[in-house]
Parts: sequence; structure tokens; C-alpha cells
Amino acid sequence: MPLIENGEIYKSLVSNHHQEDCTSSCYDCIRDYSNQNIHHLLDWRLGLDLARLSYDSNSKIDFTVSYWREYITNTIKNVLLKHKYIVEEVKDTLIGIDPFGENYCLVHPFWSAKKISKLIGSLPGHYKTISIFDISKLKN
Ligand SMILES: [Zn+2]
Repeated sequence: MPLIENGEIYKSLVSNHHQEDCTSSCYDCIRDYSNQNIHHLLDWRLGLDLARLSYDSNSKIDFTVSYWREYITNTIKNVLLKHKYIVEEVKDTLIGIDPFGENYCLVHPFWSAKKISKLIGSLPGHYKTISIFDISKLKN
């Protein structure tokens, strides 16, 4: 099970060395010339989430997972700040106000509509969702 926690590929993906240099995909992990046309879509964190889900359908899919936490609270938070978002860490995700004055809540692309409406419903006021998958592309 190389893609499951403590597996060989898992360990190399989540190594500090790789996490620091690779925000979504690189030639050391899942990029190669044969998938060149989809490089912008590749994201090893989402890949590990998929692998964990296929191994165990009850796997926890959220931003408290080790390889997401630091990425969300550092990299993504900084990307949002750089793009003039107001950012707050709430309920294990990021919420705030986008540059157009709208409230947003960061969500995971695998979360169900039910989970999202429960999360949004627990926030005061009206919030739109933005997917981590889309934010990862903002920085480029
Ligand atoms: Zn990489």
C-alpha cells in the first residue's frame, strides 16, 4: 500500500523537503511529460485523499489531515492575503472576505453538499464557497 500512511510514496510526498517545494505537483512527484496537458490539474494532496478514500471509504477528508493543515494555514492563507482576501482560521478551514467584499468559506472538492451546507449554516451571515482546488491555481 505505497499510497497509504507510512507507505513509500506517501512518505516521500509528505516529507518536509517535498511539501516545502511542491504546492500541487512537480516533476519529483506526479508530473511527467506524458501528463503535460493536465499539469495544472494535478494535486498530490487530493491524490492522497483519493487513495485514502479508496482504501477506506470512512477516511477523514478535511483540512485537519497532516498534509493539508500546514498547507492551508501557511501557503494558502498567504496566497489569499496576497490576493487581497481577508482571512480567518475558523472551524478547521479558512473563511473571510474576498476582494469584492463577499464572504467566502474554503471547502474541499470532495465534501458533500450536506457537509458544506452544515458548515456554512454554522457561520453568521451569507457565505459563498471556494474550493481549495481553485485557490491552488490562484498563485500561478
Ligand atoms: Zn511534487
